[in-house]
Order: sequence, then structure tokens, then C-alpha cells
Amino acid sequence: MSENQSRRSFLQNLGVGLGTTAAAFAVPSVMAVPEVAPPKDDKKLGVALVGLGSYAKNQLAVALENAKNCYLAAIVTGSPAKAEEWTKKYNLPKESVYNYQNFDEIAKNKAVDIIYVVLPNSMHPEFVIRAAKAGKHVMCEKPMANSVAECDAMIKACKDAGVQLGVGYRLHFEPFTQEVMRIGQKKEKGNVRFMQTNFGFTIGDPTQWRLKKAMAGGGPLMDVGIYCVQASRYVTGEEPLWVTAQFGPITDKERFKDVEESVSWQMEFPGGAMVNGFTSYKSNIEQLYVSADKGWLQLGPAYSYGPIKGRSNEGEMKLPVVHHQTVMMEAICKEMIETGKFPKHIDGDEGKRDMKILMAIYEAAQTGKRISLV
Ligand code: NAD
Repeated sequence: MSENQSRRSFLQNLGVGLGTTAAAFAVPSVMAVPEVAPPKDDKKLGVALVGLGSYAKNQLAVALENAKNCYLAAIVTGSPAKAEEWTKKYNLPKESVYNYQNFDEIAKNKAVDIIYVVLPNSMHPEFVIRAAKAGKHVMCEKPMANSVAECDAMIKACKDAGVQLGVGYRLHFEPFTQEVMRIGQKKEKGNVRFMQTNFGFTIGDPTQWRLKKAMAGGGPLMDVGIYCVQASRYVTGEEPLWVTAQFGPITDKERFKDVEESVSWQMEFPGGAMVNGFTSYKSNIEQLYVSADKGWLQLGPAYSYGPIKGRSNEGEMKLPVVHHQTVMMEAICKEMIETGKFPKHIDGDEGKRDMKILMAIYEAAQTGKRISLV
């Protein structure tokens, strides 16, 4: 879907059924789904984007244009050309444009409430910690970092600075995802017994940072396999007990010198659910299949920008199609304006829980052992 189409479907669907959907999600869980509705007052939070790459430009900046309660207040970029382009497009004052060296001066910028880090994974810890030291609330893209120790350092820095930390788990705000969370966690179809979850795409440019372990932390598991790990956790509302895993074959030696080409894993959850996961930089796939005692659910496409489609044993799921990043930013800022906090279910601890599992999957694949997570 093109960006224009995606924006069109967002605008067409904005507000349609959101109240009803949200009301159905009062799940008393860490991942209970937030309500998405216009804020009570017209206060808008200022957001600074750090790193003006593809996700910042094509998704987050669009969300900040559309959202009712936040806007693009500053940019941080290493590229003077991008600084000029964005300054013009968003009518930004010169003093709201930073580079990676003078970034810390953002502390003095009263227009900035939230700093959103959209850099390659290995750069997340440094910029989250610097943002916290600047006294700003911080959003960080997934995966939160490349290790559990880095997640700990980021969580501590934000706690010490008294600022909020959130991870950009956009699907927590997406109606089809919220529906599978609700059905799974409320056991509406009984106990979940089995889940099949996969996400992969064919990666292009062999020189990009996603193929460098030092920057990406790993291959498709860090980039998109994380969505599958998330799905198994948000459908069950539980944490896995153990994981086994296997790397797939390397069929492209040029691209996959440094990171895995694909990996499969298996996990058991406390309620008895078994999960098969798979992620790849060589297969175009994105499916979630959930089998429970009294029925089944399926999302496909399940994880990309959509439109996400869902079916169950009761038929097609009819839910609003939204622009993921817009509803995410609106929900986060609404909670921030009303309570002074980010939604709990996307906090730094949530990012760290995924990181623990991703690291265990790598360890299991490398050692051939079953890795306990309890
Ligand atoms: P990208 O390569 O398009 O952008 C990265 C940006 O970082 C560029 O502007 C680049 O100039 C800048 N950068 C600064 N220093 C760099 C360096 N040393 N090497 C490479 N780039 C450097 O990547 P992206 O797709 O925008 O991803 C950025 C982050 O967003 C990643 O953490 C990624 O996982 C995440 N992301 C999330 C989603 C989502 O749906 N939540 C989707 C895409 C990407």
C-alpha cells in the first residue's frame, strides 16, 4: 500500500468504531489495551525525531502531521540536506534543528516534551540516555537495544532523570491486534493451545546497517522476529517458560556474513500454549495463527503497516483500519497529558522482556540447548 493510500484509509476510518473497540479492551493485564480518543483539552505535545531515516520520514512524521495532540517540534540529524528539507516542510525554527554532536542542547528547548529515537538499534542506548539526561520523556524504536544490560541502563537513566520511557510498539494500539489480545487474554475461545507466528521479508541493499551485527544486534530476529515474540506474549498475556531454536540455511553468503538469514524457535507458555515462530530476511511472510480449545484466530497480514486482516472460526473480523503510528502517538500523548505518564504496557520493562527472549532464542540456536526463561 502506498503512503497516500495508507493515509487515505486512515482518514476514512478515523474515529469509526474506536470507542466501541476500546471499550471491549478493558483487560486487566500488563498489555491491556488503551483507549484511543481525542484528548480532553487541546494541548499538543512537542516531539523531536532523532534520525530522519525511512521510518521517521514515512511513518512517524506522517503521524505527527495527523495526530491531534502532538506535533513535530524538533529534528536531530547528521545530514544538513535533510535538516534543510525538513525545516522547510515542517516550518521548524532554526533553533529546533540539532545534529548528533549538539543534541544535548535540546535540554533548553521548551517546545520539546518527548524525544523519539529512530536510529539504528545499536545507537538507541546512547541517545535514550542522552535524552533522559536532557530531562525529556523518551520514546525508543524497537528493538529497544541489542542486549538486556543496555535495556537496564536505559531504564535506570530514565528513572534517575524522572522521565518516561516507552518503546514504539505500534501494534498495541492497532484494532485487529487489540482484538486478538482481548480474545486470547480473556480466554474467550478457551485456553490457547498452539500458535504459529512468522514475519519475514526479502532484504535489499547488502551494505545496509540491518545486515551488520554491531549495529543491528542480529538479523531478522531483532528486526521483525520481535513482532512474533510480542504476539505470542500478548495473545497469551504470559511469559514463556523456555525456548529452543534453530538457524536456517545461509543461501546468500554475500548478505548473511554477519547475521542470520532465518531462525525458527519453539516456546512453551505456563497456560500450556506451544508456539512455533519463524523469521527471515529471505521470505515474504507475516502470519499469526492461534488455536484455542473452542476456536481459532488468524491475522494475515499480521504485523506490517496494514491493512491488517483477520479471520476466526466465526468469520471475518470487521474492525477499523487505522494509521498505526498516528493512533499510537495519540494514545501515548493522551495518557501523558492526562496522567503525566506513558502507557505502562509499552514501557522500558516491556522492551527488556522481549530482549531477554530474543537473546535466549539466539543462545538456543547457537548451543542447540533448551534455554530456560524462568
Ligand atoms: P533507516 O536506515 O531508514 O534510518 C536510520 C537513520 O539513522 C538514517 O536517517 C541514518 O542517516 C541515521 N543514522 C545515524 N547514524 C547512522 C549510522 N552510523 N549508520 C546508519 N544510519 C545512521 O532505518 P529505519 O528503517 O528508519 O529504522 C530506524 C529504527 O526504527 C530501527 O531501530 C528500526 O528497528 C525501527 N523501525 C521500526 C519500525 C516499526 O514499525 N516500529 C519500522 C521500521 C523501523
